[in-house]
Amino acid sequence: MKGKIFLVGAGPGDPELLTIKAMKILQIADVVFYDHLVSSEILGHCKTGVELIYVGKQKNCHTVPQEKINSLLVEYANEFRTVVRLKGGDPSVFGRVGEEYEYAIKCGVECEIIPGITAGLGASASIGMPLTHRDYSSEIIFITGHKKEGKNYEAFSEIDFQGKTYVIYMGLSSLEEITTEILKNPSHDSLPMAIVENATCKNERVLVGRADTILNIARKENLQGPALLIIGDVIKFYEATRINSLKNQLLK
Ligand code: SAH
Repeated sequence: MKGKIFLVGAGPGDPELLTIKAMKILQIADVVFYDHLVSSEILGHCKTGVELIYVGKQKNCHTVPQEKINSLLVEYANEFRTVVRLKGGDPSVFGRVGEEYEYAIKCGVECEIIPGITAGLGASASIGMPLTHRDYSSEIIFITGHKKEGKNYEAFSEIDFQGKTYVIYMGLSSLEEITTEILKNPSHDSLPMAIVENATCKNERVLVGRADTILNIARKENLQGPALLIIGDVIKFYEATRINSLKNQLLK
């Protein structure tokens, strides 16, 4: 009898943000292929005797090539009952889940996707910055800052950021290129920009600036990631509420 592959989201970092469904599947998994963004607390839900296989996926350091992961998942599903591919955040957001799903189905192996809280939504809740707000933004764009070889970055200079929130994944190492592209448009100098590092984790950090200052701010802080870049007026809301909450604390 063939096993089944579960493509599971581990959530944004805080181990308590794992879904109950994901936790239940981890408890019965025979083998778990996991990424570097998955914490040991989350792997702690696995049963004794589970086979844990690290497949990496750090930038510039793809421990196991994607095609190999696809075939390993199927190979194991032919031997075991429950195979889990565990990824940070949501598996369908910049997680290459489509390739794994397609390959499994092509090989006749049952496959199911279990969603997780993506880093952008985790960060938003954790720092108290809604990504939409009636007065600031009615659109959210999740975008990768990771340039594919031979391709250009998004034409950020041509974007009208008014009323929108951009959440850039995998953008920290290209922050200089991204801000250079944004600043080609002089009206973008004062665009609010923020960086959230280790969102939802104990070591979470938030840096706030503008398109023309954020690079220097980030350099001073020596960020290691994982980190998201956020662009848009919701950052003004975040700043205003933070200042009010600091004032309240001082008045106590
Ligand atoms: N599937 C994941 C995203 C994978 S891409 C998800 O849905 O969240 C990896 C990128 O996600 C990182 O480079 C970073 O930009 C972002 N990321 C993941 N976890 C993060 C965290 N805790 N804090 C900030 N950014 C995070």
